[in-house]
Formats: sequence, C-alpha cells, structure tokens
Amino acid sequence: MEQSAINTKKIAIVGGGPGGLTLARLLQKKGADVHVYERDLNKDARVQGATLDLHEESGLAALEEAGLMDAFRANYRPGADALRIVDKHATIFFDEAFAGDADTLQRPEIDRGPLRKILLESLLPNTVVWDSHLRSIEKAGEGWRLNFYSGMSAAADIVIAADGANSKIRAHITPLKPFYSGITIVEGFVYDSAQQVPAIHELVNGGKVFAMADSKTLIVSSKGDGSLVFYAGVHAPENWVANSGIDFKNAEEVRTWFKETFADWNPLWFDLFDKAEPDFVVRPQYCMLLDQSWEALPDLTMLGDAAHVMPPYAGEGVNMAMLDALELSRCLYDPSLPTAQLSIAAYERQMNARFAEIGTLTMEQTASLHSETALQNLLAMFERGID
Ligand SMILES: Cc1cc2nc3c(=O)[nH]c(=O)nc-3n(C[C@H](O)[C@H](O)[C@H](O)COP(=O)(O)OP(=O)(O)OC[C@H]3O[C@@H](n4cnc5c(N)ncnc54)[C@H](O)[C@@H]3O)c2cc1C
Repeated sequence: MEQSAINTKKIAIVGGGPGGLTLARLLQKKGADVHVYERDLNKDARVQGATLDLHEESGLAALEEAGLMDAFRANYRPGADALRIVDKHATIFFDEAFAGDADTLQRPEIDRGPLRKILLESLLPNTVVWDSHLRSIEKAGEGWRLNFYSGMSAAADIVIAADGANSKIRAHITPLKPFYSGITIVEGFVYDSAQQVPAIHELVNGGKVFAMADSKTLIVSSKGDGSLVFYAGVHAPENWVANSGIDFKNAEEVRTWFKETFADWNPLWFDLFDKAEPDFVVRPQYCMLLDQSWEALPDLTMLGDAAHVMPPYAGEGVNMAMLDALELSRCLYDPSLPTAQLSIAAYERQMNARFAEIGTLTMEQTASLHSETALQNLLAMFERGID
C-alpha cells in the first residue's frame, strides 16, 4: 500500500464503464478506499458495443499498470483486427490483418464484455455497488452526498464522474457543453451472424468491415460470441431524431429509413437491418469543446466520455477513458502534489491538453469518413500507415 493522504479519503466513482473500473483497480492497488456506483442491475447486464482495439500508449498502458496484462492475454481476440474496406457494392479495396497478436500486442482487440469482466474480477468484493442509478449529488460538509433513484444515498470525500456522455455530475464542474458533430449513428445488433446474415458474416471474416460511399458510412464489427454489431453514420441535423418523423423505437420504420437512405447500396446490407434485433439505438454524435478548461475543484473531477465525449471514428474513446484513469491515479498519489485539488488540477490540465489533440484528430477523421472522397481518404491513410 502506498502512503498518501488520499488513503484516508472515501472515494466514490460513479459509472462502471471501462474508465471507472480501470480507475477503481488502479486506486485500490495503491490502497485507496473506493466504491463504484453503477446503474446496471448486476455484473451480467449485457454490455453493448463493438470490439475495441486497445492502444499501447493508452488502454494497454493502463492495463499494464493495473497488473492485468496476463488476464488481457487470456481474453483478447486474435484475428479480430482483420479489416476490410469496401465500397457500397461490397467490393473489397483493402483486406488486411495487422500485427495484433499476443506477442507484439499492438492494437489487439477485445470485446467490451470480457474487458469489463477482467476489470471487475480484479476488484475487492463489493467494490461495485450495482443498481445504483445516480440521480444527483450535493455538497455535504467537506464532502459529497450521492443520491440514487432507488432512494439510497451514499457519502464520499472525493467524487469522480465516470458516468459517460450524459453525465449527471459534469455540470457541477463546468457549464461547458458539447457541440453536435453533424453525424448521427443508427446502431444495431445481430445474434449468430453465421446463421442470420451469412454473406455479411463471411465478408466481416471475424474482424471489421468499413463500408463508405455517398458521404455515409456503415461499420460492421464481429464479436467473440458469434454476434455482429454495426453502425450506420449519416449527415443529419442536430434535432433529426425528434423532427424526422421516424419512430426509432419502431424497427420497421428504422429498416425503411435505411433502405431509402442507402437505396443504391448492395442489398446484402439490407439483410443486416432486416435480421437485426428490433432495439436499434440512434445516437447523435457530440464532441466536447476542443479547447475546454475550468478551475479544478478540491474534491470532484471526471474522466472518459463524461469529460470529453467524441465521435467513435478514431477509435479513441475507451483508450482515452483508460488513460485518464491512469493519469488521475498517478496524480492522486504524486508526492509533489500534496493536496487533492493540486492532483486534480494537474490531471485535468494533462487530460484537456491531450483531448485538444485527440479530439481534433477525431473530428477530422469523422469529416473525412463522411465526405465524398471517404474511400480514397481511408485507403490513403492505411497506405501511409496509421498513427
Ligand atoms: C457506436 C460506438 C462505437 C464506438 N467504438 C469505439 C471503439 O472502437 N474504440 C474506442 O476506444 N471507443 C469506441 N467508442 C467510444 C467508447 O464507447 C466510449 O468512449 C467509452 O465507452 C467511454 O468510457 P467511459 O467509461 O467514460 O463511459 P461509458 O463506457 O459510457 O460507461 C459509463 C458507465 O456509467 C454508467 N452510468 C451512466 N450514468 C449513470 C448514472 N447516472 N448512475 C450510475 N451509473 C451510470 C453506465 O451504465 C456505464 O456503465 C464507441 C462509441 C460508440 C457510440
């Protein structure tokens, strides 16, 4: 256990996503008294979303410091880094697997479920308080009171918001709000892709397919359990979900929208929407201000999407959330930063400077992939080599 004034404080992390759980593990390793309040009912709640590639300098660096690389090696998905870039007709222009293997561990892929499991299993029993949907926080003496929809409440000296893009806590730190990127995503999910959508299953080949044309994208990603997730990205006004006249809770209306909007695409893509589970998710894509900053508070900070949500097109969201956790844990235990406020200030300076760079890159990539020359742009990027 490391000696630090932080070890006498009660720390509450709100949100058990990759950012919150990584932070809990890193702090617990140093001896902190930490709880994670997560709204999911229990550890078996379905974790949605595509396979993630973890980057050496961020996601993997955090796992390394957390002492979880062996668990990672036992759970990552060799071969899931296979990528095909295609046009709307499903003609393949790029077909490659990278070096994401157990030896080199460069950008290896892992599904969100196994990543969450590794992190959860690394924590002391009862660290995560499930079924804790935060309603509000309020100042209580030197610390904070957390109020949950269940009627339960909890006290903490330091609160860390890891509650994602719609954080309930962020407004206590800064009034700055994200801006709309101009792109909205419609996300879907197909169980047992080999049976349900065999042609797409073959095309995806255990990895990912990026299809681009007409300033639109369709990204399909295989998961280790035999399912597929996909997201279609289109230019749309910010209030499109409310004003389009489409009921996104009605699967047939979503399918009709896709067939009309992607009308001259290969009908094989229609199969994806037809065979998808009926609960499509529509996600207008926001990005935090690229030059955001604020005065650090003594006992409240945030990380991951709560701090710097951005569109997914540079594959940095989870990696940045985990790197935030790493940097925050180091700052809280840095002997040259004797108060929590100095630690939080140092962390937030690094985090905001890093986001200015990564967020800019992400917005450029988002625009590039949704332009008329998207296919050429992406092919050129892979020719130059990513990074
Ligand atoms: C379609 C799509 C594809 C993506 N693909 C990639 C990718 O390939 N690579 C990548 O790195 N990133 C990707 N991202 C981004 C990535 O998902 C996020 O950046 C990342 O999950 C952020 O982690 P987090 O821990 O900050 O927040 P989250 O993962 O959002 O976790 C927040 C947690 O807080 C909980 N929570 C929320 N509100 C409350 C509350 N009020 N009370 C209690 N608990 C609460 C939630 O249940 C959740 O468990 C993608 C995003 C999308 C939408």
